[in-house]
Amino acid sequence: MDLHRKLAILADAAKYDASCATNGGVKRTSRGTPGIGSVTGTGICHSFTPDGRCVSLLKVLLTNYCIYDCLYCVNRVSSDVPRARFTPEEVVQLTLDFYRRNYIEGLFLSSGIVKSPDYTMEQLVAVARKLRVEHEFRGYIHLKTIVEASSGLIEEATRYADRVSINMELPTSADLQRLAPEKNEARIRASMGEIRQHIDTAAEERRKHKSAPPFAAASQSTQLIVGATEASDHTLLQTSSTLYRDYKLSRVYYSAFSPIPHASSKLPLAPPPLMREHRLYQADWLMRYYGFEATELTEPRAPNLDLRMDPKLAWALRNLHLFPVNVNTAPRHMLLRVPGFGVRNVDRILQSRRWHSVRLHDLVRLKVPMHKALPFIETSDYTPRAQELEHVERLKARFVRGDEQIDLFGAPALKVG
Ligand code: SF4
Repeated sequence: MDLHRKLAILADAAKYDASCATNGGVKRTSRGTPGIGSVTGTGICHSFTPDGRCVSLLKVLLTNYCIYDCLYCVNRVSSDVPRARFTPEEVVQLTLDFYRRNYIEGLFLSSGIVKSPDYTMEQLVAVARKLRVEHEFRGYIHLKTIVEASSGLIEEATRYADRVSINMELPTSADLQRLAPEKNEARIRASMGEIRQHIDTAAEERRKHKSAPPFAAASQSTQLIVGATEASDHTLLQTSSTLYRDYKLSRVYYSAFSPIPHASSKLPLAPPPLMREHRLYQADWLMRYYGFEATELTEPRAPNLDLRMDPKLAWALRNLHLFPVNVNTAPRHMLLRVPGFGVRNVDRILQSRRWHSVRLHDLVRLKVPMHKALPFIETSDYTPRAQELEHVERLKARFVRGDEQIDLFGAPALKVG
C-alpha cells in the first residue's frame, strides 16, 4: 500500500479521537480532487498547546489494526474497515516532510493495539524518540499512551512528548465492562496516576537543574464519549471532576458518540444532539474556571444539562434566592456566578470598585452583556424590580424562546484542543 493511501486511512481513523481538537477543515474539493489549501484526508488538525498557542498538527494513527473489541470503536478487531499500518520511520518521515513544508507544527500520534500493549507503546515511543533525538525535532508532540504498557515506556513517552493522553472513554466501570470489556477503570486510573508522577518529577527537575531534559510532557488529557451509554451528564461531570482532582488533567474532551457501520445492538442507533456535547464543555469550563462543583450543575431529578440554556444560567434560575448580587460588595466567587459575567469582567469589576462604586455604565464600558446580567445584579444606581426574580417561568421565557438555544455563558470562546 502506498504512503498516500495509508495516510488517508490512518488520518481518517484518527478523527474519532477528540483529545486533540478537530480533524482538518471543511471539505473543499473540486470534483473529488483536493483543491489548494484543502487539508481533507491529510490528517492536519488544529490543537492548543499547554501555553495556549494554536498549532497545526499531523493527526494520525500508527495503525488502525487493534486486538481489542471496544464496541463503539471503528477500529475494533471485529470491524471490517480497510486496515493500514505505518512503520515508525514512515511517521517520522511524514512529520519531517510536512514540517519542512510548513504544513504542520507538530504531531498527534495514537494507535490501535497490535500484538501487545508494550509492543504498541514501544512503536509510539520510537517515533517520538527518533524525532527528538535523531532529528532534534523541536515541534509539538502529543502521544496517546497505551494503558497496560510498562512503566518504563510510559516514562519515556512523557520524556519526549509535550502532552500525553489516555482515553477513559466511558465514565463508569459498568459502562466499560459492557462496551469495552478489555478495558478496566482501575488500570486506566493507575496509568494516569503514573503519568502524573512523571510529569511532576520532570517539572521538579526542570526547576532544580538547568540540565534537565529539554522535552517533557507538561500535561495530560483524556476523552469521554457522550451518548454511547445511558450515563447522564451528572455522571460524566462527576467523573471529569475526579479526574481533574486526582490527576490534575489539563483537559477532559467530550466526544459525542457517532454511530459506526455494522454497530453492535448494545449501541444507540442515533448520536446524541451535538448541543449536549457543547453544554458539557460549558459545564466543564465552569468547573475549571468558575468554581462550580459537578454536583451543582445538574439536579438529582434532572441529571442532564438543560440543552436550551447554558449551565450557568440554568444554575442561576435554580438559585434565584442568591440574587440579585451586589456588584459593589459581592465576593469574587459570587460575581463569577452571575450570568453574563466572565472571568476577565469580574477581575476588572474588582479592580474598578477599589476606586469608586460601580454603576451600570461602568459595566457597559467593560462590555458586560447587560441583557444577560441585568436581572441578576444590583449596582449603586440600579436594582432589579423585586417581582422580576419572583417569577422563574417569566424569567426563563425572557431568555429561552421555544426551542431556540441561546448562549448566556459569558465566558471567552471555548477552546477545543
Ligand atoms: S483499544 Fe482503542 S483502538 Fe482498540 S478497539 Fe478499543 S478504542 Fe479502538
